[in-house]
Amino acid sequence: METGQTVRVTARCSECGGTTVRQVNQFIHCDDLWWDAEISCSTCGMTGCEYSGPGTPPDDVRDALLAAHGPARLRVVGPLPSLVPVLKVLREVSGASLSDAREQADGLSRIGLTGTLTEMEFLGARLRRRGLPADVEVGETDRGRIMIQGITPGRAATSD
Ligand SMILES: [Zn+2]
Repeated sequence: METGQTVRVTARCSECGGTTVRQVNQFIHCDDLWWDAEISCSTCGMTGCEYSGPGTPPDDVRDALLAAHGPARLRVVGPLPSLVPVLKVLREVSGASLSDAREQADGLSRIGLTGTLTEMEFLGARLRRRGLPADVEVGETDRGRIMIQGITPGRAATSD
């Protein structure tokens, strides 16, 4: 089963002034973090695919997902012999600078990182693959949280 989240947001149609529905999805596909967005207007029939592919969605899409589903928190549980494998995963997944990755690794092993459930599941799976015990929980994470600024897959999209 693939992890994913969906949210529908309404907006004003640029064509007819009616109400459009923008459906956005974030999901794990082909071992990457993907998102897509489709817009449709039931008044004038306008439809369009805004985006479909790997990467971190723009802030408004992430905000809509977070507002609809709440944030998830990822933590590395148990004592870590070294932060090196965590740093490797973070840099591979997010392309973070070493200092940002250090800060995130520190957060992961203490209070955890928060983001959308899909992002945290994606990062958690990468950590587990390296033998790191990672736990994802959904719920109130406002206190002392570190908000990760999205996750961008390290490698470029391939078209086939
Ligand atoms: Zn319309």
